[in-house]
Amino acid sequence: MVSFSSISRNFSDGVALVAGAGSGIGRATAERFADEGADVVVVDIDDEAGGETVSRIENDGGNATFVRTDVSDSTEVKAMIERALEEYGRLDFAVNNVATGADPAPVTDISEQDWDRVTSISQKGVWLGLKHEIPALLDSGGGAIVNTASHAGIRGSPGRTPYSASKHGVVGLTRSVTLEFAADGIRVNAVCPTIVNTRALQSMSPEEQDEVTAGVPMGRPADPAEVASVIVWLCSDDASFVTGHALPVDGGQTQR
Ligand code: NAD
Repeated sequence: MVSFSSISRNFSDGVALVAGAGSGIGRATAERFADEGADVVVVDIDDEAGGETVSRIENDGGNATFVRTDVSDSTEVKAMIERALEEYGRLDFAVNNVATGADPAPVTDISEQDWDRVTSISQKGVWLGLKHEIPALLDSGGGAIVNTASHAGIRGSPGRTPYSASKHGVVGLTRSVTLEFAADGIRVNAVCPTIVNTRALQSMSPEEQDEVTAGVPMGRPADPAEVASVIVWLCSDDASFVTGHALPVDGGQTQR
């Protein structure tokens, strides 16, 4: 008989790596892991932003280490895991959360350079994360991974084909890798947010913000903490039989 207790039960001795933790959903996720008692490896390409996340966690009494990494660079991703293991000796949870986009354009006008840049960060970056995180999780006896996909990974997104194709790829990676490692005690899920109140939304005018949130049935963007809580729940023992899902966190938008 499985018994359930506090959500924090499996985090107090755990180590969580969060990529893209210098801002937005990644920072909120790193902070939530730390609140739940995990040691956190804060990964970002931006030293200042990553350092600020570590300071925020430490000021709240948590434990975190910044590892500067470009998630699209295989050498750096390999070194990221080596550094995490050097610091904490194990890895239990990983969140592959970095993506980028290009200026909106029909597929016929996308440059090869933009296609390669967007897909190498948003899709190849997730694959590289999985490739190097999974052996570390296996050495720790199993664990859980969450990949941040998007509404654009389960629905068409005209004008944003490199991003949407990457996010569909992230969902495909999630489903396939689930089957490769389910029997080894590794669960892999994806979250699919729509509009979240992070840098991209904050850089828009109020009119543009109203326009993009109009499609959300709940009539507002998500707070980053509302996505972070789902990510951390998916990593928790309370989701112990949940794997292979691409879970919309979207205020109902997928039901339109
Ligand atoms: P954000 O822009 O607030 O933060 C992204 C972080 O990633 C930044 O700190 C940045 O420095 C870092 N980063 C960028 N390139 C990197 C690289 N090559 N290597 C390592 N770090 C890098 O992002 P966000 O809005 O919180 O989005 C996080 C994830 O959620 C992304 O995968 C995004 O596609 C997805 N998402 C966001 C929204 C939204 O509305 N914000 C909606 C759906 C999906």
